[in-house]
Amino acid sequence: MPSAAAIADLEARIQVLGSRLLTQLDREVKAAGGGWLDVLVSRAIQDREFRVQALRFVDVLPTLQDDAELVAHLKEYFVNTALPWPAVSHWSLRHSDAPWAVPIAAPLVRATLRGLSRRFMGGRDTRQALGTISRLQRKGMAYTLDLLGEAVLSEQEADRYQQACTELLQDLAQAVPASPEAQRPHVSLKLSSLYSQIQPADPRGSVAAIAARLRPILAAAREAGAAVTIDMEQYAFRHIVMQCFMTVLTEPDFRDWPDAGIAIQTYLKDARDDLQTLLAWADRRATPVQVRIVRGAYWDYETVIARQHGWDAPVWEQKAQTDAGFEACLELLMSRPGSVSVAVASHNVRSLACAMALAESRGLSAGDLEFQMLYGMADELKLALVGMGYRLRVYVPFGETLHGMAYLVRRLLENSSGQSILDTGMLKTGMGQACLEKPRPSVTHTSRHTHGGFSNQPVHRFVRQEERTAFAAALHAVRGRLDEDYPLIIGGEPAAGAGWITSSNPALPAEVIGRVAVADRSLADQALAAAHAAAPGWSRLPAHERAAWLRKIATALLRQRDRFAAWQVLEAGKNWTEADADVCEAIDFLIYYAIQAERLAGLQVIELSGEHNRCCYRPRGVGLVITPWNFPLAILTGMLSATIVSGNTAIVKPSSLTPVIGAHFMQLLRDVGLPPGVVNYLPGHGNDVGEYLAASPRVNIIAFTGSREVGTRLLGIGAQLQPGQTHIKRVIAEMGGKNAIIVDADADLDDAVPGVLQSAFGYQGQKCSAASRVIVVGKLYAAFVKRLVEAAQSLTVGDPQQPGNFLGPVIDAVAYARIQKVIEEGRQHAQLLRGDTARLPPEGHFMAPQIFTGVAPQDPLAQEEIFGPVLAVLRADDFEEALTIANATAYALTGGVYSRYPAHLERAREAFHVGNLYLNRRITGALVSRQPFGGFKLSGAGSKAGGPDYLLQFMDTVCVTENTLRRGFAPDISGNAE
Ligand code: NAD
Repeated sequence: MPSAAAIADLEARIQVLGSRLLTQLDREVKAAGGGWLDVLVSRAIQDREFRVQALRFVDVLPTLQDDAELVAHLKEYFVNTALPWPAVSHWSLRHSDAPWAVPIAAPLVRATLRGLSRRFMGGRDTRQALGTISRLQRKGMAYTLDLLGEAVLSEQEADRYQQACTELLQDLAQAVPASPEAQRPHVSLKLSSLYSQIQPADPRGSVAAIAARLRPILAAAREAGAAVTIDMEQYAFRHIVMQCFMTVLTEPDFRDWPDAGIAIQTYLKDARDDLQTLLAWADRRATPVQVRIVRGAYWDYETVIARQHGWDAPVWEQKAQTDAGFEACLELLMSRPGSVSVAVASHNVRSLACAMALAESRGLSAGDLEFQMLYGMADELKLALVGMGYRLRVYVPFGETLHGMAYLVRRLLENSSGQSILDTGMLKTGMGQACLEKPRPSVTHTSRHTHGGFSNQPVHRFVRQEERTAFAAALHAVRGRLDEDYPLIIGGEPAAGAGWITSSNPALPAEVIGRVAVADRSLADQALAAAHAAAPGWSRLPAHERAAWLRKIATALLRQRDRFAAWQVLEAGKNWTEADADVCEAIDFLIYYAIQAERLAGLQVIELSGEHNRCCYRPRGVGLVITPWNFPLAILTGMLSATIVSGNTAIVKPSSLTPVIGAHFMQLLRDVGLPPGVVNYLPGHGNDVGEYLAASPRVNIIAFTGSREVGTRLLGIGAQLQPGQTHIKRVIAEMGGKNAIIVDADADLDDAVPGVLQSAFGYQGQKCSAASRVIVVGKLYAAFVKRLVEAAQSLTVGDPQQPGNFLGPVIDAVAYARIQKVIEEGRQHAQLLRGDTARLPPEGHFMAPQIFTGVAPQDPLAQEEIFGPVLAVLRADDFEEALTIANATAYALTGGVYSRYPAHLERAREAFHVGNLYLNRRITGALVSRQPFGGFKLSGAGSKAGGPDYLLQFMDTVCVTENTLRRGFAPDISGNAE
């Protein structure tokens, strides 16, 4: 801990050195003058609307090959916004409907984009980048090259990135000598581009795969006398990047190599801990590495993603916190000069001055310290530093503009945010001492975002070791409880069944998960009797007490969330993430329906003179809850909790494929002490005990989720009056889908391909919301199919107990055979491009992703629900045709559109007939309350689950009207009589 005097001395030196830097900077800024980009940027800072539109337009621009298309987009984006571009483009835009205007406007706009990319990118290829490097070297600056590319979605793309990096190093070695230092080859690498299946839950597998591609690059660098720095990217990959860096650089081939470095982002709350880890490792390694200290470039992304998921943001919220963190990290690094060398990557004058003062206090000279800045930013500051004798390295991204778009948008976003001018290099003359002030963070409290008093249970991110260890331990614990017997539960008591269902692990069919008792009709009668016996007491409870039971159940479930997820990995074949999400959704249903029940409990009173009207909701009686296997806990919990919180009692018939999960949930209800008979657990065969109960006159509600075949059958059964039946049954039937995603001609494939993959193959395509059709518009078809197929072939398939596997098995042998049959038939009329079947595990119901191309809209592949990892790709000439194809099935559950053309998104909003429409994102993963879920046409009959209307289906509405007028006197009349 430095003394107060030392701190004061340091601060004084920061001010002196900072003032010196500012004076030098003033000189350079005056000499430079402003350019057209500065006009654009200052307009973007002042006008938020313009900024959003401009960034979105820049993002889509490189994909618009056709001039007319480009002008149409320009018009859509800027229809109400004055453009800061030359008057002629503005004028031609106004006349854009005239064919002669297009050839004028389009080249102008393209030239603008080229100007933008030239400003921030050092060229399109190595030859141009070498030109940029020589210009920098003439100014006394060193460089590091960053090879920009598209998002890496497949192993082929990862191979190409690896090869491109290796070739780049060889080209640099030939073109530029390894010394002096300023001219020595230097590249920066993104490790996420070296493995398409990088998976936060699986650091070990991810590190192994990345390391395999990284080693040859590092060997080439060593051979070329080049230095390499590993960039830091999204927080989700940070632990993998660090681990990979430390692993490979400890290996014998690289242990004594001094030319490797890694970036540390100081906007991360973990930055100091990461540095400590790195320093301890560097000491053990005994050859120094370089640490590039940066603020971090994904602040908006990290903040938005954390807010959307209810996670604590990994980044500091205030700029002052990041600034202070930057200085703290610098101080720590400079205290260990033997272990690491420091590269200070910042455009912030205060941070630079702080680094100078710290270096000075450690007895380092100006030449010992390296500063790094981005190409195209803060050029005057670069010159000022070089003028003061410091070493400066410029970070030079290069590559095709199309591939560099994410980078370019990020730079523009930073430049136009207006908040952190000092960090982005928007330098002015006379910035004054104020920008040298010491950062003083204040204390902040962040609260979780709620809607209507509800917030979704955050899913695991699996970035923290503790989360991963706890999940693995839960799997281990559950494995210790395989092969047990589970009874029926009737009236709160275990009951012997009339036989057994054996539930097995779809990944290892010989492994028994458990044996569950099955009911016959007489046991079903007993369950009905128990449910009726419990009904009066339960229905009389005030709604808030029933809601309290749901909250109690949710608390107990939350405490055991990993255990419940682990059962799903084993019994349902879900991967870690999917299993965890299912448990979180179950918790959400419990809390959300508790809130809704309390809301509906309030009486609705309408009072008129002489008339009193009161409406309220009453339970209907006994509910039969029939559940599918694909969301074995969430759907069961959702339908069941809605039934009981509305005051009904329930009989649950789970799917015969996942009865053990249901049995554990039933045990949890008993553990929390739910009154006997309120929920009765009755596994059994659907077409026997299921139908028997559905037909019973003693059942008031049938809440069903499952196939169209069974759902429509139950709708029919529910409509038939049985002898002695004195009520109409309410049948809620949520059924299947044939969900389509439209990929528009201007879609961003970096987003659309992973979005389609997630939607089609997440949980092996066994979600009712899964995409089973993708309709590609126009010329994008070939490029989309190529990337999609390569990416699908790269997906990992295997036992979901291993966190690196994206696809697990399909649910059972029957499903496997059924899907195989569909595939064989499909091959007769469409082309099949399947994943690598050779890599499938020998046991288990595993299936590689299957993609059919050239599918006709009326083909069974495009009309019937398959419920497996099978995707049909269709082609449409234009967006309207794509919509017509999308709507032309009997289903209407989910749908999606990837487009950057606002008019098409608007058109989809009004004309894409589905219950849940998703724009520019995957179409699975609806969240309770935020995306109430359910379809129409033959996809469902009922109000949306997880929405405000859902509970109404489980209750009768009663309205009581009293005439309060007696012999001309009404109690509520006031005024004149007095
Ligand atoms: P399924 O229809 O085969 O079975 C669902 C449940 O119904 C099971 O408990 C089963 O035992 C029972 N059952 C079967 N025959 C019965 C009968 N004659 N009478 C009474 N009960 C009977 O469906 P599944 O295979 O478990 O689930 C997959 C299907 O569910 C897919 O079609 C999927 O799209 C659909 N699904 C829809 C939603 C939604 O919200 N719309 C959600 C999940 C699943």
